[in-house]
Amino acid sequence: MTEVLDINITKIERSKLTDISLENIPFGKFFTDHMLEADYENGEWKAVEIKPYQPLVLDPSVSALHYGQSIFEGIKAFRQENGEAVIFRPYENLKRFNLSARRMSMPEVPEEIFIEGMRQLIELDENWIPTQAEHSLYIRPFMFATDYMLGVKPSETYKFLIILSPVGPFHAAPMKIAVEEKYTRAAPGGVGFSKNAGNYGGSMLPATKAKEMGYDQVLWTDAFEHKWLQEVGMMNIGFVINNSFVTPALEDTILKGVTRDSIITILKDIGIKVEERKLNIDEVVEAYKNGTLTEIFGMGTAAVISNIKKLKYKDFVMDFDVNSFTISPKVKQALDQIRLGKTADKHGWLFKV
Ligand code: PMP
Repeated sequence: MTEVLDINITKIERSKLTDISLENIPFGKFFTDHMLEADYENGEWKAVEIKPYQPLVLDPSVSALHYGQSIFEGIKAFRQENGEAVIFRPYENLKRFNLSARRMSMPEVPEEIFIEGMRQLIELDENWIPTQAEHSLYIRPFMFATDYMLGVKPSETYKFLIILSPVGPFHAAPMKIAVEEKYTRAAPGGVGFSKNAGNYGGSMLPATKAKEMGYDQVLWTDAFEHKWLQEVGMMNIGFVINNSFVTPALEDTILKGVTRDSIITILKDIGIKVEERKLNIDEVVEAYKNGTLTEIFGMGTAAVISNIKKLKYKDFVMDFDVNSFTISPKVKQALDQIRLGKTADKHGWLFKV
C-alpha cells in the first residue's frame, strides 16, 4: 500500500471553475485550480507541494531547454455513474515514466509522489472532472532538468510536476493517414520507447508535410527500409486482417501504449485472436487488395480509438468504410463501460481517487 505522503497544500482562494463551462471543452487548453510540484536535489525528492496553478520562473540556462532531459505522461480520470472519481491504470504510466527517466539519465519518481500525489491533487480539484459523455480529466505528469548551466551532462536537479486539464472528445473523427517514407520517429537503440519531449518535436515536420498533402497524420515506418509499421502519429496502430487483430510487436522504437495493452486484453477476453508481430506495408496492401483487411485504427489515451478511413502508400490510396468496422466500436464500448463503472473492473484497472 502507498503511504500517506506528507504534501504541503496551499489552496486557491477562488476557483476558476466558476468562469468556465466544461461542456465540449477543447483538448489541453484549460487547467484546474492546483498543480503538484516537487524538486530533486542532492539525490532525493523533496518539497512536494500542491499549490495554486501558476507560471514557473526559470533561469534562461535551464538545462532541459538546451539538452532535452524532459519526459512526460498522459493519463485520464473519469467520473463514474455512481459519482466516484477513478484514474485509469496510473501504475502503468508510473512504470513507463520511470522507464523514460532511466533512458534519459533522469532520476525515477517514487510511487508515493507520482500516484499518491496525483490522487491528492485530483481529490482537491475533483469538481473539474467533467461528467458529459466522452469527457474526462487529462492528467499530465512531467519532469525536466533544472540545473542552471550550459554543458551536456545529466542535470543534478530536476522538477516533477502534475497538471490537470478537463477535456472533451479528442479528434475522434476518422483519420486520413499517409505512410511515412522519408522521416523516421525512432531507430533501434534510440529513444522511441521513451516518452521524452524531443520525440514529439521531431514528429512535427513530417506531420505538417502530411497535412499539406491533405492527410491528418503519418504512419511511421522503420528507419531503414521504411516498410515495417511502427505507430500512427502519437498512437499505437492496430489492423483487423482475416478477423484477427494484428499490431506491431513492441520493440525499442515503439512506445508501449497503455491503451494498446488494454485493447489487447479486452480482445482476448472476447475471444478475438490477437497477433503481436512484425507487420509490413506490403502485407497491408495485399490484404486490402484481397479484401481481408477490414479495419485500421489508432489507439491512445487522448483519443482512445481513432478509426482510419484513408491510408496512402506511395501513389496507392486505400479507402475504408469506418461505418462497417465492428471490432473497433466493440472495444471502445467495452473500455468505456469499464471506465464508467458500468461493467466489472475485472482486471483491476481503475484506481479510486
Ligand atoms: N505512441 C506514442 C508515440 C504516444 O505518444 C502515445 C500516447 N502516450 C501512444 C503511442 C499511446 O500510448 P497510451 O495508450 O499509453 O496513451
